[in-house]
Amino acid sequence: MGKIVINKANLFHNLNIISQKANGKEKVAVVLKDNAYGHGLIEIATLASEFGIKKAVVQTLDEAIKIEKLFEQTLILAESDFHTYSHTFHIAVNSIEQLKRLPKNTNVHLKIDTGMHRNGITKEELKEAIHGICKENLNFTGLFTHYKAADILSTEFYWQRANFSQIKEETKKICEQLFLPLPKFHSANSSALFRFNNFDEDFTRVGIATYGYLDSDTVFKIPDLKPVMSLWANKITTRVLKKGQRVGYGGAYEAPKDMTISTYDVGYGDGFLRLNGSNKYLTPKGYEILGKVSMDNLCINSEDDEVCIFEDVTKLASIHNTIRYEILATLNPNIKKEVI
Ligand SMILES: *Cc1c(COP(=O)(O)O)cnc(C)c1O
Repeated sequence: MGKIVINKANLFHNLNIISQKANGKEKVAVVLKDNAYGHGLIEIATLASEFGIKKAVVQTLDEAIKIEKLFEQTLILAESDFHTYSHTFHIAVNSIEQLKRLPKNTNVHLKIDTGMHRNGITKEELKEAIHGICKENLNFTGLFTHYKAADILSTEFYWQRANFSQIKEETKKICEQLFLPLPKFHSANSSALFRFNNFDEDFTRVGIATYGYLDSDTVFKIPDLKPVMSLWANKITTRVLKKGQRVGYGGAYEAPKDMTISTYDVGYGDGFLRLNGSNKYLTPKGYEILGKVSMDNLCINSEDDEVCIFEDVTKLASIHNTIRYEILATLNPNIKKEVI
């Protein structure tokens, strides 16, 4: 199963860059969904709180309950069942329908569809939704949207931003008429935050940048972020592979000469996506992962008791033809974490 090492100095370094870009720690909501992108919900929540972050974003109510004491505000993205929520919880609402199912006094962040067309209410429904919030005795605490192309060089981002600005103005008018305090406005994920010249929203929802990456071809000055996670494996056994012998499923790797190899305790069952022997992958120390990765182990041309499998997932993402988010988020939540 190996272990995940969390580098606290690198996390704080990233949070510092993000806070500066957002104009203050209080304007940063750290996104902790999916076990903090595989890094460990409790570990990252505890460290982010120690750094001075006051807001978090999670997917489920279960996640929110686990970190309730650490943040002044936790936004829950997925629709959850009827529940008496903590006063620090804010529920993302995607439809007018959903308002009727929330208990009185729930804090509501209205999600607006500004062009991604995945979820959220439309601009035509805005007035009805805000009136609905009042009628159901809910607290209107936030209004937000999500960009479909913040990481792609196109005008879509600016078009969605313009739509959102218009909706903000409309919301202000409606709130004035109803004597409601203004909700917090937010739209930016990591790549959007770094596309703003002067960030002027109430807060930003930052996921991947917290963990040290920015998948973006649009940011001219890529910030100097540092990967927070490294994955380590322990040696199981060592053997000599004679010249011409082949190792593992399908015998995908053949020894070009007599060589000493060892098996290590990480496999695709731990969420380490399966290398199939057709792409060469080297560990940070320059060892090679030989042949196909098994469910619970893999082979390396090393005798070290412990081997670092990765400290940066960029190469793995390219081998697997995916984004770095996926390499991180698929890691098994049961892998033990060590904070250094
Ligand atoms: C996951 C998510 C984010 C964070 O996105 P990153 O690209 O990782 O910064 C922000 N907002 C919403 C609604 C999300 O679902």
